[in-house]
Amino acid sequence: MPDSPRSEVVAYIGLGANLGDAQATLCWAIDQLAALPGCHLLACSSFYRSAPFEADGPDFINAVISLQTSMDVRKLLLNMQQIENRAGRERPYHHAPRTLDLDILLYGQDCIDHPDLVVPHPRMTQRAFVLFPLSEIAPEQVSAQQLAVVKSQRIERLVTGEQ
Ligand code: ADP
Ligand code: MG
Repeated sequence: MPDSPRSEVVAYIGLGANLGDAQATLCWAIDQLAALPGCHLLACSSFYRSAPFEADGPDFINAVISLQTSMDVRKLLLNMQQIENRAGRERPYHHAPRTLDLDILLYGQDCIDHPDLVVPHPRMTQRAFVLFPLSEIAPEQVSAQQLAVVKSQRIERLVTGEQ
């Protein structure tokens, strides 16, 4: 049965990479997400460099984008996983370094609790690499108290063009 059409919502997507040319991969992934059917890029945070958190390997490059979308949330997740795969994502073990990780942080006001999809993302409030870029593009989504909780995690905002 085809997905029933739904009105547009604003989705927030977290991007991260710590293998290969992470900044180039994030730029590529943002273009891919913006080009998905029924999706329109609203905002893109700065890029941030963060220490691996519950993950292995070198520092991560992170960003958060907002998309206006009429795409069903499960279909959005499938498309995001295809983009991860096209970026060469491998999953040798949990928390392995990755060429690209795409997570749905928020999908409108929806609350989803499914074995393959939990929204709002259950760990987003524990992660500076999500909260700092999210607060840059959507300050109303992040409280000062939430930022204070993660402030001991190492993260720096990259100025454009910085390596
Ligand atoms: P990580 O937890 O490190 O991001 P993966 O990217 O390999 O690990 O994702 C593991 C699983 O998390 C995926 O198979 C996906 O089904 C599930 N998942 C649950 N909720 C979400 C979400 N909000 N966004 C993205 N993936 C999610
Ligand atoms: Mg993921």
